[in-house]
Amino acid sequence: MESIIRLLPDVIANQIAAGEVVQRPASVVKELMENAIDAGAKKVDLSLKDAGKTLIQVVDDGKGMSAQDARMCFERHATSKIREKDDLFKIQTLGFRGEALASIAAVAQVKLKTRLQNMELGTEIDIEGNEIKKQEPCVCAVGTMFQVKNLFFNVPARRNFLKSDAVETRHIMNEFLRIALPQPEVAFTFKHNETQVYDLRATSLKERIVALCGAELKNEISFLEEHTGYVKISGYIGSPKAARRTREEQYFFVNERYIKSPFLHHAIAAAYDAAIAKDKHPFYCIFFEINPIHVDINIHPTKTEVKFDDEHTLYVLLNGAIKRNLGAFHNAPALDFSDNVNDDLQKKIYGPFVSPKPQGKPFSFPQKNNYFEPTQKPIINPQDWKNFYETPTNPDANVPQLLSEEIEHVTSAALIGQEYVVAEKDKTLYIIHIQNAQERIFYERFLQKTANGTSIPSQQLLFPQTFEFSTADKWLLLETEVELFKMGLELKDFQGNTLILYGAPSDLPQSKTRETLEQIIADIKEIGKQQLAEKLPERFAKNIAIRNAAAKTIQTNEAKHLAESLFSCQQPQFSPTGKATFKILTENELAAFFNN
Ligand code: ADP
Ligand code: MG
Repeated sequence: MESIIRLLPDVIANQIAAGEVVQRPASVVKELMENAIDAGAKKVDLSLKDAGKTLIQVVDDGKGMSAQDARMCFERHATSKIREKDDLFKIQTLGFRGEALASIAAVAQVKLKTRLQNMELGTEIDIEGNEIKKQEPCVCAVGTMFQVKNLFFNVPARRNFLKSDAVETRHIMNEFLRIALPQPEVAFTFKHNETQVYDLRATSLKERIVALCGAELKNEISFLEEHTGYVKISGYIGSPKAARRTREEQYFFVNERYIKSPFLHHAIAAAYDAAIAKDKHPFYCIFFEINPIHVDINIHPTKTEVKFDDEHTLYVLLNGAIKRNLGAFHNAPALDFSDNVNDDLQKKIYGPFVSPKPQGKPFSFPQKNNYFEPTQKPIINPQDWKNFYETPTNPDANVPQLLSEEIEHVTSAALIGQEYVVAEKDKTLYIIHIQNAQERIFYERFLQKTANGTSIPSQQLLFPQTFEFSTADKWLLLETEVELFKMGLELKDFQGNTLILYGAPSDLPQSKTRETLEQIIADIKEIGKQQLAEKLPERFAKNIAIRNAAAKTIQTNEAKHLAESLFSCQQPQFSPTGKATFKILTENELAAFFNN
């Protein structure tokens, strides 16, 4: 019988490979800039037109290529960086797969000009959809220039799925940063549509960080170093004061290659612990220098995830180094934050609650809960907090199990602006912070619904929403499909990096679904797979509570209801992230104030 199996023509094979390597303009920027660094460049100039959709140009002053190599570099699996199998286990360069240029040339119009140091003339090549259009000697500077024009010109489906210029530029910025940060001794420029975005001269790591991540970091980062036979850890960490709203400025580099590692991130987050608010994120830029035989960078196609043969050692070293280093921000002798050591000092610096212990009679929940006495370790997360709080200091504690079972009545309540409610209860005046209070109420309600492992009903969306994530994040969500479904989130794989949301819990405001999913991704990474089923619902409750509270405003006639709902909570004093929900003025305090 005649054989029906055929080898794919090269053009098609390259286009398929391109799908993996070249996802968007930022991928091209990454590959070209990495090649420039691998070629020993001291200066790299990046210029873009229309977020790289029209043109991406990278010029370097590296070692250049011979005429033959200039032609060869576009072949698939053409690389000067690996010669034999063993080389795979000791990779020192950023690239090594020999796929990037072949993939780029398969989906764009590419011009290359390159010259070796000792040659008078260079080589110019035009290649388009893997077809050589021109190859001739040319006059050009030593080094290499690549122009990548009209990305995906021959794959309209991909071109149409490119995002707005703003989004694509942000991706490019991220790649640019990840390459420029670990190479402070290399000068970089970055131009977009003729506007200079960065002009970075060769400098120290510290100055490079300040130039790229913000001048406000100048006095807020501290150097960290830790050597062992296994690894050399170095870099800078930001002070708790300089903590950021997003997790974007957190960098790990392994042998100068940018990587992501939820596990190592945890080593840092755990060291900062109560030092920063739970919704803030520490700045860090950490380098691991490690013998390549201990690292497998091959496990992920875009190579941002790596595998160390001894992750746990890295965790412990990193965690310890950060803890020691944090003390430097307080002009105090280095603090040891391990349990029970320097506890008092730690509390002074990092105590989570600013309000001093009230004088005289504590506020009037004694029949339910005792006032929080900061005599123990600062609270790390609500779960720990709950454990602490529920240690029966008051044997008569009568904590309501269900909100509806026992309502705490208030005498009167009124709305002040959109931020506060003033309420009176048992001759005590409460100034309630609406947002924090709503977070607490929504949080407990949601937890009640999931008590005993009950699933949250999913409400079908009239218009299913689509979301685009990185490949890794998309799979993270898909792997968690079952858990998410139990929490009322019905997510399905669509195509490429897109997911569709068909249903969501009724408590989740639609405008906040993206934020919520992003938080879930962050939570999954932080919790780790083993404890996911156990810990994710609680995180999700917090997540939803915060979004819900932010999306809801309350009306004048709802003030009393809010106060009563809050006071009926099991832990009314604090939001799920540990922020105070109200301030108290007792009758005695008021009398003392007016009668002296
Ligand atoms: P890889 O980087 O994985 O080897 P690429 O497809 O990115 O694969 O590049 C193929 C080869 O082309 C490289 O191994 C290198 O020899 C050469 N090359 C690419 N870019 C440059 C450059 N800017 N300067 C010098 N040589 C380069
Ligand atoms: Mg490369």
